Amino acid sequence: SHRIMLGPLVAAIDQGTSSTRFLVFNSKTAELLSHHQVEIKQSFPKEGWVEEDPKEILQSVYECMERTCEKLTQLNIDISNIKAIGVTNQRETTLVWDKETGEPLYNAIGKYVDLCTTSYVFVLVWLDLRTQSTVENLINKTPGRNKNHLKHKTGLPISTYFSAVKLRWLMDNVKEVHEAVVSHRAMFGTVDSWLIWCLTGGKSGGVHCTDVTNASRTMLFNIHTMDWDAELFHSSFHCFIVVHLLFDVDNPIKSLLFLHNQCLGDQSAALVGQMCFQDGQAKNTYGTGCFLLRNTGAKPVMSEHGLLTTVAYKLGRDKPACYALEGSVAIAGAVVRWLQDNLGIIGSSEELEKLAASVGTSYGCYFVPAFSGLYAPYWEPSARGIICGLTQFTNKRHLAFAALEAVCFQTREILDAMNQDSGIPLTQLQVDGGMTSNKLLMQLQADILCIPVVKPSMPETTALGAAMAAGAAEGVSVWSLNPDDLSEVTSEKFEPQINPEESEFRYARWKRAVQKSMNWET
Ligand code: ADP
Repeated sequence: SHRIMLGPLVAAIDQGTSSTRFLVFNSKTAELLSHHQVEIKQSFPKEGWVEEDPKEILQSVYECMERTCEKLTQLNIDISNIKAIGVTNQRETTLVWDKETGEPLYNAIGKYVDLCTTSYVFVLVWLDLRTQSTVENLINKTPGRNKNHLKHKTGLPISTYFSAVKLRWLMDNVKEVHEAVVSHRAMFGTVDSWLIWCLTGGKSGGVHCTDVTNASRTMLFNIHTMDWDAELFHSSFHCFIVVHLLFDVDNPIKSLLFLHNQCLGDQSAALVGQMCFQDGQAKNTYGTGCFLLRNTGAKPVMSEHGLLTTVAYKLGRDKPACYALEGSVAIAGAVVRWLQDNLGIIGSSEELEKLAASVGTSYGCYFVPAFSGLYAPYWEPSARGIICGLTQFTNKRHLAFAALEAVCFQTREILDAMNQDSGIPLTQLQVDGGMTSNKLLMQLQADILCIPVVKPSMPETTALGAAMAAGAAEGVSVWSLNPDDLSEVTSEKFEPQINPEESEFRYARWKRAVQKSMNWET
């Protein structure tokens, strides 16, 4: 059979909170040639605890790569044309593994991993709230009990969200982790580090590295010096084997077959995939959570309105770092899963749209899904979910609508904060992520923001960004880094359809509901 000649291909491993994907693109046209996706189970063993199985994560990566390559072969596409593979991942999710032994450390939050030649891993998912008291302790130690005490260095408030507090919790609460740390056998990393270490040989010489975008979410990284920070590491973390920053390692993934890499946290990859390379450009990704990032160029801008300052990307050792302001929403798609798994009022995420569309209103019902506290712009870990405005008339259709509206209102709060911080209102919002297949959600979002919402017709922007970055790192000329190609990106546009007064009225009600969710425990 004849082989199709396509020129160089670029690929990405996209390891998200709810699924893993492997995708292969034509480097000249950005066409998605083949992909495979595997769902990842999340478990909630106690209130506020969120876990995933690192073995399952790793296995899903292997499965996705294998299946995608099979599909390419069936299409007569030679997989040796894949010249670069990027890794992009759920950020902050924290793993500790033992580089030497084969004994499980703690079963509830870590699972035995035999696939990659070692080891025992503990993982706390970014949404996990078990670190709440760790956070309170840390904040109590700061002058004036200031949750923003480290912000001038990290760009982040002290919160359950970031890796350092999860690491602290593991060291304080899991004997085996403590012992592994003391005996210098503990390895710490985010999902990117875990995957790269496994894929490059695990305990027989795996590369232990991360990139600056993931590092900037650990709360151990100084976003100005672009390096690990001695003060942030403090005495407590010094025992850990230092995670190399990607650019400190020559050719980090050289041992993996055809794989050379560039690694980017998922939200950075989406920013790149949406081609938001200019100062002021922004995108919002609707997955398990919702993440709005606005490129601020070469300078880190400190928010006055509850946003994070983060490293957006650094596309090469000698390239400058680019920064972003970020508004993170903990619960977006996760609320859909909750309606499905916990309440059982929908059978699938697609059903939600039909249910909500059948009424087209929440009928005055407001749903604040503060399941993991509230992230931006409030950073209130003790907030809890609330559904209010119920009447005898309210039914599950209104609740479905209110759940979608909640995602839109949370985005509006972040956009407002971003506009206030920058002084320049955003005139349209680029969007992507699993939830954007919901057209009602997209229309609602335009209505509630009062600006157009623009969705690219190829929705896999996170993977695209990672593949682009990897291609560029390997010297493959990649379509989108050529500005002439940008006009070819086709998209779907949702224009606001309701009048701004109605939008403002609903938003004001939402804000009242948020206040109630925050005062819940006092
Ligand atoms: P992640 O990167 O966090 O794993 P994805 O971008 O893959 O997330 O999006 C998956 C999320 O989107 C899930 O939480 C799912 O419930 C939600 N989702 C997918 N399709 C729809 C839909 N049609 N309507 C509403 N939510 C959806």
